[in-house]
Amino acid sequence: MPRVQVKNADAKAFPREFALLHQLGGSDSIESEKLVEAFAIYGDAAAVKSLVEGSDAVEFDAFAKAFAKPSQSALVEGAEGNCLGWAARDSSGTLAPYKFSRRELQPNDVVIKITHAGMCHSDLHTIKGDWGPAKYPVVPGHEIVGIVTEVGSGVSKFKLGDRAGVGVFVDSCRSCAQCGKGEQIFCPKLVYTYNATHYDGLPAQGGYSTHVVIADDHAYTIPANLDLAGVAPLLCAGITTYAPYKDHGLDKPGLKIGVVGLGGLGHMAVKFGVAFGCEVYVISRSKAKEAEAIAMGAKAIIPSGDADALKAAAGTLDGIIDTVSAKHDITALTSLLAPRGRLVMVGLPPQQPTLNHFDMILRNLTVSGSVIGNLAMTQEMLDFCGAHGITADVEVIDIDYVNEAMVRMEAGDVKFRFVIDINKSLIL
Ligand SMILES: [Zn+2]
Ligand SMILES: [Zn+2]
Repeated sequence: MPRVQVKNADAKAFPREFALLHQLGGSDSIESEKLVEAFAIYGDAAAVKSLVEGSDAVEFDAFAKAFAKPSQSALVEGAEGNCLGWAARDSSGTLAPYKFSRRELQPNDVVIKITHAGMCHSDLHTIKGDWGPAKYPVVPGHEIVGIVTEVGSGVSKFKLGDRAGVGVFVDSCRSCAQCGKGEQIFCPKLVYTYNATHYDGLPAQGGYSTHVVIADDHAYTIPANLDLAGVAPLLCAGITTYAPYKDHGLDKPGLKIGVVGLGGLGHMAVKFGVAFGCEVYVISRSKAKEAEAIAMGAKAIIPSGDADALKAAAGTLDGIIDTVSAKHDITALTSLLAPRGRLVMVGLPPQQPTLNHFDMILRNLTVSGSVIGNLAMTQEMLDFCGAHGITADVEVIDIDYVNEAMVRMEAGDVKFRFVIDINKSLIL
């Protein structure tokens, strides 16, 4: 088996290849078969054949050079910067290569070479200005995973070569009452991952880019057993659907849980419910996705377009996690709740919800909302996924496909999350 020898100095010269080595084979070795397979995708197959043949050790710089594959993505005219991303420049939402600069490494920072970035509906809403004027150019992406390629002098949480993740926010003030309670998501100075401004005045740009610089206390460690592409969506879709179970005591074996919608968020809600030992039902317009729901461990689909099916399921569910962002009827959902049942909204429909007051009062129902999750719970969720082997179901794409993927995502045509293979397709 060829072993690739890595020295730290090499890692700095070839951060992309260093990240890829760790992703494929661990610290400093990779099986020859896997190496050849990887080169067929990422690099020069003939070059690797001559490297591997008759050799049981490969120097890292030779390995890295054989991987070097120029990308058209890197051809950005007349731009300066240490980071390459794809940005929207106006509300058309069309993304194109954009060079910009991340901050210099601070003592508590890590540099993460991004390997994968998940595509979230929020990315699309933000770049189109649906939620207010965007701070163009905007590099979206808040489901970020990669490999640590630099660590500041004060960092002990990460070391070179570790896997790391970044979610929906990249900084918080650490001194307000909410931060003091570990409730960073309510910090008035919370810095979102993109379409925001860092405390030093630099624009915050997201994960459709080659690297990110972040304070170590706002980055997450990633279990070694999980596939990085499938981990990326955990940083938003995962925590968004994990937190409602925990915050509302719905994570107990035997509880009956309804999950509304089987998209990027919904399929994660199903996986978590099943892992908690709940009996999970997917509430969807029709039974079309029933085989997929059952394959994920759900019991069945309750078709929301079928009045008889709704009547048969009335009053049976202990909790409902509503992930749907299109207009829909909340009263039809609350009718499914058992006494003291809880409905938690995590989707953002354009209309305000209407409630049936009799239904709510006579059965002590609770309707609540939930937004992503705090630092501690996000790390807990990732560790839980490691222990239970949970990742998102993803379609991995090249960055050059991102505009088409946006169109497909808007149409709900994805199983179940697009993840951009940054490592393969975006080279500075
Ligand atoms: Zn998101
Ligand atoms: Zn704060």
